[in-house]
Amino acid sequence: MDVISIAGAYQGLKAVKEILTTAFEAKVDAEVKPKILEAQGKLGEVQDVLFILRERLSELQQERDDLKAKLANAEAWQSQADQYELTTTPGTAVVYRYKGQPDHFACPSCFNKREVHILQDNKLMAGTYRCTGCGFNYRVKSPTHFNPRVYGT
Ligand SMILES: [Zn+2]
Repeated sequence: MDVISIAGAYQGLKAVKEILTTAFEAKVDAEVKPKILEAQGKLGEVQDVLFILRERLSELQQERDDLKAKLANAEAWQSQADQYELTTTPGTAVVYRYKGQPDHFACPSCFNKREVHILQDNKLMAGTYRCTGCGFNYRVKSPTHFNPRVYGT
């Protein structure tokens, strides 16, 4: 059942109430009139329940749509996240490494917020990579690997 079906049922009840009103106003036996009034009262109660059901159904459909959107977002994120694995770099930073190509690292802090920010080589600070999202620096490569003159390898 959907909102349109409930609206149709509601209109059907309204039509029956109108027919009963017409019957009530016609020349009918006095004993019938209380029964007509009782029937109209019952129909009114059913209309009230239908109105509440229609509102509730509409709310539930909205919630369903919101949950579908959240699920789609969660699935999209999981699909992206599955392409990374947590790793410890030679510089001892714990970051996410892309499993495919081109090889790169992603910031674990931003990753936990469901954002992938690729770490960029700082150049000036040997071996460190900077997150383009939060600005944190990670020691990705060992300093000796980058600047043998300073560290004397
Ligand atoms: Zn970050």
